[in-house]
Formats: sequence, structure tokens, C-alpha cells
Amino acid sequence: MLQLGALQVYLLSDGVVQVDAGGMFGLVPRALWGRMVAPDAENRVPMHLRCLLVKVGDQNIVIDTGLGNKLDEKHRRQWGLERPQGDLLAGLARAGVAPAAVTLVINTHLHADHCAGNNFFDAAGALRPTFPQARYVVQRREYEDAMRPNERTRATYIPLNYEPLHLSGQLELLEGDTELAPGVRGVVTPGHTPGHMSVVLEGGGQAAVFLCDLATYLVHFEKLGWMTAYDVEPLITLETKRAWQQWAMQHHAYLISAHDPQPVARLRPDEHGTARIIPVDLAQD
Ligand SMILES: [Zn+2]
Repeated sequence: MLQLGALQVYLLSDGVVQVDAGGMFGLVPRALWGRMVAPDAENRVPMHLRCLLVKVGDQNIVIDTGLGNKLDEKHRRQWGLERPQGDLLAGLARAGVAPAAVTLVINTHLHADHCAGNNFFDAAGALRPTFPQARYVVQRREYEDAMRPNERTRATYIPLNYEPLHLSGQLELLEGDTELAPGVRGVVTPGHTPGHMSVVLEGGGQAAVFLCDLATYLVHFEKLGWMTAYDVEPLITLETKRAWQQWAMQHHAYLISAHDPQPVARLRPDEHGTARIIPVDLAQD
């Protein structure tokens, strides 16, 4: 747990999946990325599904909902999904939060690995919101793109994960950067998708940012030219990262990763002034 003034930030896991390294590293040669992560025999690398719980005042805020529990056995196998710590709901229970006590759900974007846990099928086969009392939010631009998937984005934009929530009025659409709770700010960080949102957390004179897929692995945040093959606007990702690198160094901010095996880091200039990722062990920081 990370305490930022009045904010208590819990890093929760919805599991770990295995993804093709070509997707994770795009144009970066294996000779370079291979020094940082070892692929398995099928050239797959691990991708964590990290979600956040932020407690502030009487609010319980969930940021991203992971792959959820609607997957059938075939899709679980395709993802190589494993849940050594249980799913997101198990993590919330350990933090003392029941699904009905969640007040706000922030979807950083609508790729399936970030929002499929928004809802679930009950025993009678009815689709229900996982967090019945919560207001859900996502950027309007993201929602509009996700409702018009093309041949390249169709596999990950699955309307079942978000359209019913919007139609029922539970999912609200944001128009750009938005203060969502005291010290919790959604900021548009375009590139991975045009409507992609990161979340800045501030309190007690400290700052953190949940990068989400602004940088899929932490090394992607350090190296401006590295990005996933899934980024639909890679040159925009590059410029967004350039701006947020400066912010992160100025604020000495915690960088919280959605997908890296290492959950938290900071960015510091080395002796040549080049930005470098410094892993942070929260237990010792
Ligand atoms: Zn992702």
C-alpha cells in the first residue's frame, strides 16, 4: 500500500497473462529487449494485469477492472491467464472492500484487459455490473472509438464490456482531463489509443501516476522510441511520453505500472542527463 496524504493506494492483481513479445516490443529488436525479459519457448512474455484501489474519504475507487470472469476456457488458455493471488475481487476483499462498496470505477481505456471485469454473468446468465453502486467513467473519445472497432482493433474492443453500462446510464463519458475525486485526476495521455487516460494521484506533497499503457512495461517509459505494436498512434505516444517524463522527474513521482512485473519505479536523470527507471520497493521506500 502506498499512502499519499489522504489517499491510500492499493496495487491489486487480476492475474498474469502471456503475450507475444512482438506485440509487446513492436519494432525493437529482440537483441535489445531480450536483455530485459526472457521470452518462453513460444516467444511470449508475461503481462501483469494490475488494477488500483484508491481509498480517499468515504470513496473506494477502482482503476481498471482486468480480464474479469466472463472468459471461457478457450480464451483463458489463449491468454495463458494465471491468478496466483486470485482475481481483482479477491484483492479488494483482502483490502476490506466489497463490490457494493466501490463508489467509482475508472476505465483508463477499453481494451479487454482493462475493462472486461466491469461486468459478469450471474448464475442465471444475466449480465450484471461487478460494482452495482459505482459510477463508471471513461473518456468520450475512447468510448466512441471502442464502439467503432476496425479490423485492427476488433479483437480487443468488445462492446459487451462497456456498452450495456453506458446504455443503463452507469458509465459516464469524460471530456478531457478531469478531477475525479480530491487528489485523483484523470489525464488524457494519447498514443496507445487517442482517448487513453492515465491517472495522477496526489496527496501529502507527493505524486504518483498510474501510467497504464502510456508505457506498457516501465522500460517503455524510459526509452521514448520503444512502444508496443498495439499503439495506434505511435508517434503521438512518443511525444506524450516526452512530456510526462518531464512531469515525473519534476514531481519525483511514483510511476505505477499496469503490466510490468516490477510494479513501481521512479524516473531520474543519470550522470549524462538521460532519464532512467529506478525500481522502487514500496516496503522499503
Ligand atoms: Zn493494457
